[in-house]
Amino acid sequence: MGRATVPAAPRFAYHIGWADQIGEGDFVSRLLLILFLGLCAAGTTKAERMPDLPAKRQPPAAWAKPAITDGPTQWSPEEIVGAQRACIAVVARGAYDLEPLEPIRKGRCGAPAPVRLRALPGEAGLQLVPAATLTCGMAARFREWVDRVLQPTARARLGSPVAKIRLMGTYSCRRRYNSPDTRISQHARAKALDIAAFQTADGQVITVLAHWPGDDERSAFLREIHTGACQIFDTVLGPRANEAHANHFHFDIGSGGVCE
Ligand SMILES: [Zn+2]
Repeated sequence: MGRATVPAAPRFAYHIGWADQIGEGDFVSRLLLILFLGLCAAGTTKAERMPDLPAKRQPPAAWAKPAITDGPTQWSPEEIVGAQRACIAVVARGAYDLEPLEPIRKGRCGAPAPVRLRALPGEAGLQLVPAATLTCGMAARFREWVDRVLQPTARARLGSPVAKIRLMGTYSCRRRYNSPDTRISQHARAKALDIAAFQTADGQVITVLAHWPGDDERSAFLREIHTGACQIFDTVLGPRANEAHANHFHFDIGSGGVCE
């Protein structure tokens, strides 16, 4: 019957053409160089300072947690239709350049109605590089942060809106910090976003790694958009949190309220 039928293709997909007028190759090579130099520096100091640790005792195999990929490989038709309906309701309230993706399910990982978000068309326009795999709820929360926090702060501090965001990751079926002992990451539910750098419409490039530590307008910009994100997302992590976040901001929804 109709209740159990999955629509072949949701009808909320629409695409708004994006004219890429920013030198992306230049942006990528500058960012990679900064990241590379940062990694070299981090590697050197670690090697110099880290004393040898005694070998960690391995727990018996019976203690090992089940893999997060164990379990169902499909969502029920009701779960998919419910998530697609909720998605349509959410994205109908704003302009999004996105395409719906097939349901993703690997045990505890995945989402019943994920989307690939490419850009937020609008007054300033904002491109995500690469495109992000997110739930619609996370896409909407991201848009709220862009409209209420990111663009006003960019105009005030940098004199130009942000035209491009460089992402480090979105969907990934893994535990937090890729560690076998931690809880499942919101990245595994398509409810998280890692941002490494911003490029303004007038060509300024601001990276979390290079500019967070400074005391100029670029550093103030990063600190203000980080603080503003704490009002919108459930968990916000940046360079203040730990070394793993020295080069990016992590935003997610669905986890337990951390802002650092
Ligand atoms: Zn993250």
